[in-house]
Amino acid sequence: MTETHRALSDVVSCLSDYDPDALPVVLAQQVIRSFIQPVNAIEKVAIRAALDRILATDIVSPINVPAHDNSAMDGYALRGSDLIVDTDLTLRVIGSAYAGRIYEGVVGSGECVRIMTGGVMPDGCDTVVPQEFTHNATHDSVTLPVGVVKTGDNRRLTGEDLAVDQAALQQGKILRPADLGLLASLGVAEVPVQRRLRVAFFSTGDELRSIGEPLDAGCIYDSNRYTLYGMLTRLGCDLIDMGVIKDDPAALEAAFRNACENADAVITSGGVSVGAADYTKQIMAQLGDVTFWKIGMRPGRPMAFGRINSNGKSAILFGLPGNPVAVMVTFYFLVRDALLHMMGANAAALPLLRARAQSAIRKKAGRTEYQRGILSTDASGQQQVRITGSQGSGILRSMSEANCMVVLHHEQGNVAAGDAVDVLLFEGLL
Ligand code: AMP
Ligand code: MG
Repeated sequence: MTETHRALSDVVSCLSDYDPDALPVVLAQQVIRSFIQPVNAIEKVAIRAALDRILATDIVSPINVPAHDNSAMDGYALRGSDLIVDTDLTLRVIGSAYAGRIYEGVVGSGECVRIMTGGVMPDGCDTVVPQEFTHNATHDSVTLPVGVVKTGDNRRLTGEDLAVDQAALQQGKILRPADLGLLASLGVAEVPVQRRLRVAFFSTGDELRSIGEPLDAGCIYDSNRYTLYGMLTRLGCDLIDMGVIKDDPAALEAAFRNACENADAVITSGGVSVGAADYTKQIMAQLGDVTFWKIGMRPGRPMAFGRINSNGKSAILFGLPGNPVAVMVTFYFLVRDALLHMMGANAAALPLLRARAQSAIRKKAGRTEYQRGILSTDASGQQQVRITGSQGSGILRSMSEANCMVVLHHEQGNVAAGDAVDVLLFEGLL
């Protein structure tokens, strides 16, 4: 594929306050967003397989939904013009219309048709009286008191859900359960979606051991590959898990090249901090257009970003820090949105909630802090949040205990108990 890519230097030259050694989160997000492009490759999948995938074209309704005026209630379909009387109205029941079974005749004045919810409105009828409002119902006649319905009540109109040729779903939408139902209501069996983004990832560091290996003195198990696996799977990526790569130039170069040749994006953890006596940064820089940032954020200050190339292929690189919580925070606040954009998704920023801080929070102005929090409801029904114990960037347990991130913005200083803070919830309904 011959594509022209912007150089990072072009992207950052547009920014007035760009300083790679003290980069505010919003600027880092902006650089990433201007540098990357959607992958744009379409495949067709069966409707069920389209769940959580990204719609690749607009969907226009080929039919009216519903296809006919129909009843919203179980009751009797009648002519609204019969309702003008100011006494009880007794109508002759001339037939029935059930959902999926049409009444073929025409309904005249003084007549009605027994109808069930979803039954097609018979010719001549525009109103339904629910059966619980009627009296003296027999096989042949029914009485309705004055004023229980007016013309047009309890009738669903043709195309009121979706009219023919109306835009039903927009390209870039992440398809959720309601969208599958909507597509099904249109009779759409196959859905054009963006192909899954291929993401290769590996951990770097001589101290890392994989599950199943003996834990030698001074070593730790590699956890980042598992949090990354979880976060990337939730985003719907195709994963290439490349394991742990030792701090060895030849092994690192081979891993980066292999990842680059087989994936759209490469995510690594470890080896990008200042003073790290390892080869990771060196090889990243060697293979492409990569910048090393110190981002004004906590946790997660160091990060590498750019594009690496190997044998005519290229991939976007995110070199995340090594500390386990820093990996998750940089992923959620810098990588996630970028991957969604590469996938062709048209995803709005996640909404922040406001909650009352249960106790004071120390915060330095001039960097964005993402603290692990537990959101709950106080006795009066208001949202309140407390910070999970230690915020050390190696303490993954507190990330697991948290149900939200407290987002303390760049300019913000110390928070007093009772102040409102922004919170991003982990769980969503869909
Ligand atoms: P580094 O940025 O490579 O110096 O790593 C920073 C810290 O994160 C060190 O304490 C590493 O041991 C730890 N670390 C790096 N990679 C991982 C990993 N994959 N799993 C768990 N901890 C890690
Ligand atoms: Mg390391």
